Amino acid sequence: MMRVEPFGRSGADPNERGLRILEDCPPDTVIAEFSGQLTPTATRHTIQVGPAQHLVVDPAVLQLVCHSCRPNVRFDVTERKLISVRAIRAADELTFFYPSTEWAMVAPFNCLCGEPECFHRIDGAKSIPRERLQSYWLAPHVRSQLA
Ligand SMILES: [Zn+2]
Repeated sequence: MMRVEPFGRSGADPNERGLRILEDCPPDTVIAEFSGQLTPTATRHTIQVGPAQHLVVDPAVLQLVCHSCRPNVRFDVTERKLISVRAIRAADELTFFYPSTEWAMVAPFNCLCGEPECFHRIDGAKSIPRERLQSYWLAPHVRSQLA
């Protein structure tokens, strides 16, 4: 596992924490492997890994990876690996695209990522126009739902 650390995000919620990486990371690099307990019920802290399966990610520190509409990592739910999708510099926050794993989120929110491609409202892949999902890595169960 590459070196990471939690930090307080300077967002709307002062208690919100994120996870940053402490070393430079090339694209397509395994940052961490994960496992966890499967549950049929989604929470704020689970990642969807199948049509009706959610994972309480272990190590728990990976639950701090927040959403961005321009993510730098993906949760590969098949390989159970956290993988960079572009080059990441030391001290950068790790972010993934929640709709890449979540079809319908239990806790929708207004995105403040500030990226030009921001969707503003994030409540799962179900609400995003198909063509706008094409530029993202998507988990197999999300691709199946779209088909
Ligand atoms: Zn956004």
